[in-house]
Amino acid sequence: MKLAARVNQVPPSLTLAISAKAKTLKSSGIDVCSFGTGEPDFPTPQHICDAAKKALDEGKTKYGAAAGELALRKAIVDKLQTANNLSYSPDNIIVTNGGKFSLYNLMQTLIEAGDEVIIPAPYWLSYPEMVKLASGTPVIVETIEANQYKITPQQLQAAITPRTKLFILNSPSNPTGTVYTPDEIRALADVVVQNDILVVSDEIYENLLYDDAQHLSIGAVNPEIFQRAIICNGFAKSYSMTGWRVGYTAAPDEIIKGMVKVQGHSTSNVCTFAQYGAIAALTESQDCVKQMLSAFAERREYIYQAVNSISLLSCPKPYGAFYVFIDISKTGKTSLDFCNSLLESLQVAAIPGIAFGADSCIRLSYATDMDTIKKGIERLDRFVNSL
Ligand code: PLP
Repeated sequence: MKLAARVNQVPPSLTLAISAKAKTLKSSGIDVCSFGTGEPDFPTPQHICDAAKKALDEGKTKYGAAAGELALRKAIVDKLQTANNLSYSPDNIIVTNGGKFSLYNLMQTLIEAGDEVIIPAPYWLSYPEMVKLASGTPVIVETIEANQYKITPQQLQAAITPRTKLFILNSPSNPTGTVYTPDEIRALADVVVQNDILVVSDEIYENLLYDDAQHLSIGAVNPEIFQRAIICNGFAKSYSMTGWRVGYTAAPDEIIKGMVKVQGHSTSNVCTFAQYGAIAALTESQDCVKQMLSAFAERREYIYQAVNSISLLSCPKPYGAFYVFIDISKTGKTSLDFCNSLLESLQVAAIPGIAFGADSCIRLSYATDMDTIKKGIERLDRFVNSL
């Protein structure tokens, strides 16, 4: 059967494919150490589940507004004001099926053939594909480890053409764990404003920060950038709500109106009672976030030291999210080769950097328990030594 060219041009998601392969091996009784998925290994906090159960019992089981439940949009407005210093009204918010559909919907709403979207590499693997699915052109800007995989204002300026519509910023970053400092964010904001383009800031890892790393939402820098900023976020990573599929976008009215139209003709509203769980996540105690963060912090310290003690491998210290991005170039293998052999020979699942636009690297997620991390790193060491 002939599928649309639109679909044929995008590869399937490599992270989902490798995680599925690891799960199949696991379910057939094989002892797999999985560093594949970006999914916290903690259960969703009880008070969030309770709020969703209560909503179910109260009959919140029907279609709702395509933009999302008003009570949730109000809770998001309050959160953005208090945590990020961003002043929105509920009309500036759309609740979507995960952070992923926020970004997909945004591309459908903003991008058309000929529009260029600037994406620093290494990037979250869905960005370029979402741009292509909207008929746009991804413009990939390579960053280097020596600069902690950050795009510089000069690089951003040099990539801008009359066709540039949007710049995608992701801090803390998946896959590198990099966090831009407030000054770096301000400098990028200046370039966006001077060139009158838009920026989408994917802030899904904003709560997962280590040491003295700080998160500044680019929209909060000044009123000029606020008009050009689109903020995407979600509940999956901070509250261990990956399967709930709740995310959101905050943006100027016109953009949200467009996204609500797209949503009205695609997914309609996000699962109604799941949205009540999300309200509890935002409005009740944030201790659960702190507890998960302290577990991630301990694993991060361990994995960072352990990876760098393996000859031929190195990774920069991640300051956010829950990933280490490891340079494997000294092994002489491509990232796909490396990950396939590692999974087949020693049952360790890692994601090839090629999926993120960096073939000399692999990504390990440390959103998994310490025992798996210790065992997996020991196997990784053995694997590298056997090359
Ligand atoms: N943005 C980034 C950078 C991510 O890593 C992810 C998930 O892996 C998402 C967005 C989407 O998350 P979700 O759709 O689960 O909310």
